[in-house]
Parts: sequence; structure tokens; C-alpha cells
Amino acid sequence: MNILIMGPAGAGKGTMSERIVEEYGIPHISSGDMFRAEISEKTELGVAAQAYMNQGLLVPDEVTIQMVKHRLTKDDCKKGYLLDGFPRTLAQAEALEKMTREEGIPLQAIICLEVEFDELAKRITGRRICKHCNEIYNVNFKPSKVEGICDVCGHELFQRSDDTVEQLKVRLQEYEKQTVPVLEYFKDAGLVIKVNAGQKIDDVWKDVKEALEALND
Ligand code: AMP
Repeated sequence: MNILIMGPAGAGKGTMSERIVEEYGIPHISSGDMFRAEISEKTELGVAAQAYMNQGLLVPDEVTIQMVKHRLTKDDCKKGYLLDGFPRTLAQAEALEKMTREEGIPLQAIICLEVEFDELAKRITGRRICKHCNEIYNVNFKPSKVEGICDVCGHELFQRSDDTVEQLKVRLQEYEKQTVPVLEYFKDAGLVIKVNAGQKIDDVWKDVKEALEALND
């Protein structure tokens, strides 16, 4: 299954991705996670990306495309993949189409998660993530049992530096400006499946799963 999950910051891409990976056993390729890993390892790429990420801006295409291409050409992607957060620009969409064609792993569907701004703001500002196992919590909807500590592994939780209302506004502007055209691009190929992601997590998952099961039919 070769799929892409899209949606603005806070739409639940991370949470749905976890479930998709668990259900279908395909690798999760998140460009945001890849950048964060580069930053924590203090690589040259990480240092370059951090300046953009801290402002809620997109990292330049050239760097991003190379990074994802490197990952997508690994052997584990032959059995399928879940892309998350890439492509976010038309240039990235075109590059993706080319690289997946060359690798013989064309995209089959795009799950597009849709949510209203107020709901996004609540989700984003309340989000906390485990430093160790990446489990996602939310102080408003899904608090950890002990504040600031992961229920799963006992490590400390952190808040992403770009998870503020101000940054959310910038990220949404970027989404509208750069990423909505990507959806238009794929819509013509009939690949886009819209899902109402303002529902409870289990209901969103039900809709996502139903859409993915239909691909297997
Ligand atoms: P995310 O974790 O997907 O919300 O991404 C966090 C940040 O990483 C974004 O605000 C961008 O600065 C950067 N980023 C992630 N994916 C991309 C991409 N495909 N193109 C450019 N920048 C990206």
C-alpha cells in the first residue's frame, strides 16, 4: 500500500499514521520527524532546517526532496510506504511522482484530514510528546497520568517549539499557500480521499481504515 497522509498541523496526521503503520506494517516516512532527528543529531542538514522550522516556514525544496528520496529508495519501501508531511509544495509533488515512477512504487491514495481552525489550535497548544518513545499526549484531551511524564516509558514529555498559536497561524498560511495546490495537483489523478478529522480519534480512524480497505478490494 503506497499512501500519503495530508492535513494541516494538528489534524492528527501523527496519530493516524501510528494506526496505519500498526495495521498495515508499512514504513512511516515523516519529513518533519526526519528533520527533527537531524536537528537532535546536530547534522549540517539539521542546522539548516532548524532556522526555517522555528519560524513555521517550509524548509527549501532541494534539501527536503533529497532527504525523502534517499529514504524512499530503501528496500523496505518496496512493500509499501506511508508518507506524512511530504510533499508540501508543487515542486515536491512533481519530484515525488518522478521518484516513485522510477522506483515502481506509485502513489495509490492520499488521505486528506480536514479540521476547523479552533479545534486545531486546541490540539496544537495542548500537544505534548515523549522525548524517548514519541508517544503523543494532549493536556486537553489525552493527558498523561503524571503531568509531564510518559505513561508508556516513564520519560519526560516535551512541547514542540513550533506548537504555539502564533506558529500555527504561520503554518496554516504556508499550508494554504503551498500545500493546497498540491492537493489540486493530485485531485486530477483521482487520488484524494477527504476525511473529517474533527471527529473523535476512533471515528476518524474508522473512516480512514474504510477508505484504505477499499483500496485493497
Ligand atoms: P511537521 O512535523 O510535519 O509539522 O513539520 C514540521 C516542520 O518541518 C514544518 O513546519 C517545516 O518547517 C518542516 N517540514 C516538514 N516537512 C516538510 C516538507 N515536506 N517541506 C518543507 N518543510 C517541511
